[in-house]
Amino acid sequence: MHIHPKITPIYQTSVFKFEDLNEVEQYFGEPGSRYLYSRNGNPNSDELAAAVNRLEGGAGAVATGSGMAAIFAALLACCQAGDHVLCAADIYGGSSSLLDQELSRLGITVTYVPFEQLYSLGQLVQPTTRLLLAETMSNPLLRVADLRRLATECRQYGLKLVVDNTFATPLLTRPLELGADIVLHSVTKYIAGHSDVTAGVVVAKGEETAARLKQIGVLYGLTLSPMESWLAVRGLKTLRLRVREHSHNALAVAQFLSTQPSVRAVYYPGLPDHPQHMLAREQGGGLFGGMMSVLLADDEEVVNQFMRRSQRFPFAPSLAGVDSSLSYPLATSHRYLTVEQQAELGISTGLVRLSVGIEPVEELLQDLKQALK
Ligand SMILES: *Cc1c(COP(=O)(O)O)cnc(C)c1O
Repeated sequence: MHIHPKITPIYQTSVFKFEDLNEVEQYFGEPGSRYLYSRNGNPNSDELAAAVNRLEGGAGAVATGSGMAAIFAALLACCQAGDHVLCAADIYGGSSSLLDQELSRLGITVTYVPFEQLYSLGQLVQPTTRLLLAETMSNPLLRVADLRRLATECRQYGLKLVVDNTFATPLLTRPLELGADIVLHSVTKYIAGHSDVTAGVVVAKGEETAARLKQIGVLYGLTLSPMESWLAVRGLKTLRLRVREHSHNALAVAQFLSTQPSVRAVYYPGLPDHPQHMLAREQGGGLFGGMMSVLLADDEEVVNQFMRRSQRFPFAPSLAGVDSSLSYPLATSHRYLTVEQQAELGISTGLVRLSVGIEPVEELLQDLKQALK
């Protein structure tokens, strides 16, 4: 009997069988011809990696157990003890904690680059500097980095450009085409898209880097399980539809919120008064994504009231699911920054981050209206 499933089944197996030594030799002699052991490779994790690799236009990709594992793999692919990295100051809290608390112990040092200084790195580059880590759209203020300019700046000093493209997705922006060397995602967010998977992926522009990433994935044990891979692939099939809806809804929500007297500021790249609006428009192909932050009064009770009243934006410290949610950077993602760092990044008591889902937009507007009353 031949079974011809339309989609890839879940290969829920940790290991693969071999008939004889010839087959074992085939595995080692003809890379890609067979599978051996799921940490080294599995049809489901390979399918996810290949799909994101295609979307990002890479030379190879590795699916990882989380977005953090993808960041770790990217940094290790370029750095060893004694090396130095530059990191945009506007960065996911986990990325800065990884650099400050863990990679520092491996002898890798970091300098944070304020947003205004991203295109003039000269003063910050050391002989041992290997790379710049930055996000296409930053968390939580949605500052947009000009990746083409960043790539030019990095090339001048021989630095690799590593881009966390989680917020933008390849639907808006493909960093490798703009000159980045490595692009990575928390697949947990838009790529999987349904708040039911923890995963990551890291994509290289060059084959050599792709091979390094693969080895790091296998030897550090960062690779992704079959079930999680399968769920992520399933989610990825609707990425295009979802991102379009997320973007349309978010623009409507941002426009609505900016008319509300109790909202002091709306940070959304799709609004004409956003400082990088024109860049975001060009780099995002006219879509601006589903993430925004809003500044309410700097008063915890005001924030609490808003959180309690809203029915469609439950507090859930993640993002990018089909259902809307909100998060609070001061207490979660940016909790462990110093008070000065928080202030520099504009993360204050009144700042609330919204992840706008794909629900009927009138329902979201209605909910926000009553929650802000
Ligand atoms: C969530 C997130 C990460 C970390 O991903 P995990 O899947 O939680 O490990 C990294 N970067 C950004 C921008 C994120 O939002």
